[in-house]
Amino acid sequence: MGSSSHRQAVVAGGAGFIGSHLCDLLIRKGLQVICVDNLITGSRQNIAGLFGRPGFRFLNLDISRDIIPESSVDYIFHFASPASPLDYQNYPEETALANSLGTLRLLQLARATGARFLLASTSEAYGDPLQSPQAETYWGNVNSFGPRSCYDESKRFAETLSYIYLHKYDLDIRIIRIFNTYGPRMRASDGRVVSNFINQALTGAPLTVYGRGSQTRSLCYISDLVAGVDRAMFTPGLRGEIFNLGNPEETAVLDLAKKIKGLTGSESPLVFKPPLPDDPHQRRPDISKARRLLHWQPQIPAAVGLPRTIAHYRNLAKSR
Ligand code: UDP
Repeated sequence: MGSSSHRQAVVAGGAGFIGSHLCDLLIRKGLQVICVDNLITGSRQNIAGLFGRPGFRFLNLDISRDIIPESSVDYIFHFASPASPLDYQNYPEETALANSLGTLRLLQLARATGARFLLASTSEAYGDPLQSPQAETYWGNVNSFGPRSCYDESKRFAETLSYIYLHKYDLDIRIIRIFNTYGPRMRASDGRVVSNFINQALTGAPLTVYGRGSQTRSLCYISDLVAGVDRAMFTPGLRGEIFNLGNPEETAVLDLAKKIKGLTGSESPLVFKPPLPDDPHQRRPDISKARRLLHWQPQIPAAVGLPRTIAHYRNLAKSR
């Protein structure tokens, strides 16, 4: 940890859900953090605790348009993209550009400064997977023009561009594919399954299950995810490696709804809504590579993470 002091990190998307937890961790480690965000889905509230901390700076910039005015950077984390299906379908062009032009600009910054570069890619790179669990070697089953393509395909392009910069300019790039992550700071209105179900349960609204609820997801608690990001960036000798980061604990959406209803003691009914187009049927990470090379695995089961997240949203509602 001592060796990381005074090293400078750029966190693009640093005011978002995962990015802001990452900024917290980097400041705790003693790095200088430049948090860059255009605040379309991130918020100042997420980084409120960091303003005024020594070593923290915030730049309200759009990485797909603006130059980041820094000449001395050691680490670049690219977490700048809407990531919830609701958000990226509301901002399809911004999403596609953050992951294409935005990735290009950040890779150019890495090239100019010699920084190590970590791309936050996604389990959506696997699309609606035809194999389970998904290993990094799986090429995926992705629709290039469907409602999710602005996200899936631009993340896949971001991976391609990162590898071009690795091979052409010898950059130290690393890629993580993030599986469903939840916890405090995910916007209540974000539209994702955990935030929706908890907030519906807490307000007595019906829990909206899309389709029959037989589709599965594997849910990772935020502190586990960020610990994996830390290892993926700072473990030496991982140039060019790609890792799944997520919790292999797989659950059907309907079971999740029932679990959240039980944990909140809510009287809310479950309602079944039409299935979403191109909604992946199953998703579960194979994390054996992360276990082997990062010595990382999630520590927080849903039985612990969900109650913590419920407590967070209860507190938010009280403070309003
Ligand atoms: N989902 C649901 N009800 C909701 C929100 C989501 O049934 O209110 C389902 C959605 O159809 C998907 C899963 O939960 O199958 C996870 O959706 P989310 O938006 O959290 O993330 P995704 O994994 O699709 O990116």
